[in-house]
Amino acid sequence: MATVSQSAVDVRDLRRVYRMGSEDVHALAGVSFAVPRGGFWAIMGPSGSGKSTLLNLLGCLDRPSSGAYFLDGQDVSQLDDTRLSDMRLKYLGFIFQSFNLLPQLTVEENIALPLYYLGWDPHESARRARELAGLVGLQSRLRHRPRELSGGQQQRVAIARSLANDPVFLLADEPTGNLDSHTGEEIMRLLTELNEQGKTIIMVTHEPDIAAHATHRLFMRDGLVERTEGGQ
Ligand code: ADP
Repeated sequence: MATVSQSAVDVRDLRRVYRMGSEDVHALAGVSFAVPRGGFWAIMGPSGSGKSTLLNLLGCLDRPSSGAYFLDGQDVSQLDDTRLSDMRLKYLGFIFQSFNLLPQLTVEENIALPLYYLGWDPHESARRARELAGLVGLQSRLRHRPRELSGGQQQRVAIARSLANDPVFLLADEPTGNLDSHTGEEIMRLLTELNEQGKTIIMVTHEPDIAAHATHRLFMRDGLVERTEGGQ
């Protein structure tokens, strides 16, 4: 893999074309930006502007039609599915709107799950999971199952899980979308604290109040970056 950029994320003229019958949909029509390590960026834009397509590419869930994507300096734009899934496991942390916890697992087991897939020693991963539960304020809930937790607590578990592999960046997709506004603010405070401790965060949201917590905002329109706020 080529290595050039030292940003957490560096995308250059990224394009993604979907073939719909005889028509090409240019979901991303040439997007370039870089998120430095330690950055906290919100990706915004109206429905259909290309946010999900961009998120899928940044999350190594899809490959661009053309353009380059450097993840922590490694060009991942042409990797096959196996190598992409390897990148996700080793370098990324995902936070979803619907938390995506496994209902049959405890809090501790949910947090440790990425470490299980990474082949960690069970005692070591349990120790790390407890440490991360403490970091998100859930040290007294280790044996609980997701259904025994509030929505805000479930999202805290998901945030702890996203940190387990010490990822290059956290990718959050509408992280407060299923929460009331007070709980959403608490989750944003937690993300802000993590960012202040040095964690790089990229978050997709359509809510300006939520995006205001990020240090930078990138506005998409018609598959292009319309403008950025907070400097480039
Ligand atoms: P957003 O997340 O901002 O709503 P999307 O990335 O979902 O935007 O979509 C961008 C454009 O690409 C839209 O015009 C959408 O209809 C189109 N699109 C998204 N996914 C597909 C797909 N799998 N096949 C065809 N067109 C798609």
